[in-house]
Amino acid sequence: MSKTNITSRIPGFHSMSVEARIARLAELTDLDEAAIAQLSNTGNLEVETADRMIENVVGTMNIPVGVATNLIVDGREILVPMATEESSVVAAVCNAAKQCRSAGGIATSSSGPLMIAQVQLLGVSDPENARFKILERREEIKAICDETDPVLLKFGGGFRDLEVRVLETDDGPMVITHLIVDTGDAMGANAVNSMAEAVGPRIEAWTGGRVLLRILSNLADRRLVRARGVWKLENIGGAEVRDGMLSAFRFADADPYRAATHNKGIMNGVTAVVMASGNDTRAIEAGAHAFAARSGRYRSLTRWEGDAEGNLVGLLEMPMAVGLVGGATKIHPTAQTALKIMGVSKADELARVIAAVGLAQNFAALKVLATTGVQKGHMSLHAKNIAAMAGALGEEVELVAAKLKEMGKVRVDIAERLLAELRGGKA
Ligand code: NAD
Repeated sequence: MSKTNITSRIPGFHSMSVEARIARLAELTDLDEAAIAQLSNTGNLEVETADRMIENVVGTMNIPVGVATNLIVDGREILVPMATEESSVVAAVCNAAKQCRSAGGIATSSSGPLMIAQVQLLGVSDPENARFKILERREEIKAICDETDPVLLKFGGGFRDLEVRVLETDDGPMVITHLIVDTGDAMGANAVNSMAEAVGPRIEAWTGGRVLLRILSNLADRRLVRARGVWKLENIGGAEVRDGMLSAFRFADADPYRAATHNKGIMNGVTAVVMASGNDTRAIEAGAHAFAARSGRYRSLTRWEGDAEGNLVGLLEMPMAVGLVGGATKIHPTAQTALKIMGVSKADELARVIAAVGLAQNFAALKVLATTGVQKGHMSLHAKNIAAMAGALGEEVELVAAKLKEMGKVRVDIAERLLAELRGGKA
């Protein structure tokens, strides 16, 4: 039962040490010694580092990192760390990657690291006139942006382009300026936000309007990655499997109910690598789903076709705003190790590897859905999770999971019964 006298008002909580925060939290929410010890163990992320990363830190949340094997990306053998709590995700990539090795693996390309920052201008009676006035100041805008981030400039990034749109809204027309910035090896959110804030007052002065929002767009459609893979018929089980997979793709592309799940499957792989590299998973998710809906209908991020030889071809194109500097990427030691395992030294290379994983993930999901169904493959790890959920410990987990699989019924109530029988039998 939760305590009724709890208060969420804890003055000075943010300035306490992590230890003091845990103690206060334990007092307020009745945490026992075991829970306190569990929270206090921050594993392979130093408590000082965690405390610098976010506010009010009381612990860390460890999730497994698995390594995807069998991948060849742009002719290079590569091992890819994936951070995920979901069973079957890593195994699926390994399987898919194995089946396209004989065709050379996955080829990738990218549009380069261009991010968009938006500046919202209100209160102009002549929006088209204002639009032109802003466009005339391109060189001044470029100078302001570049001066804002000399470090970015030193590394070859900086302002690249200017777009201004008149947007019709329920509040009347707004003039929206897009600053298009090469953010190099940074994801670039802070970088372009600072530029938008620096340019804002100038836009007000030029137009006589009022600037309100100055923030990046996560629809990073100038920062696209592409992955392409060929799966030979003999490696995937023949024409029937291919046709089933093509039909599964067409279903997803035509129906948002299916597309949401289809794209979620792609993001199983994408997000796991984004997370393992210390990047912003929400930024990538937001960009992916907005891009999937760019035609006005939410569609599949991938496209699947049969080639002239009858092989299955998979194509993935999506925004991929990931960095190697900034945010948690340089701070989190596991992220640093993940980059080392992958052998990537440019943000663009990382983005392309992530796309390759997303495509492989989608192949695996389509194949299993169009053949055996998803539950069979999930069964093994899922059965162990269910066994543990039922309270199985140590070797009991394997024993209960094996029995659940044998019965073909992976349910927690059955696991509890099996566990009771097992323990009863032992007594
Ligand atoms: P940042 O500001 O920490 O680092 C980027 C800066 O690093 C650059 O501006 C540049 O000055 C410097 N730099 C050093 N070496 C560089 C190199 N080789 N290439 C490019 N720049 C180099 O981080 P950021 O990438 O600007 O922003 C990322 C962070 O912003 C993430 O933590 C993200 O979660 C957060 N964020 C995201 C959103 C969003 O997605 N909507 C909004 C706000 C903040």
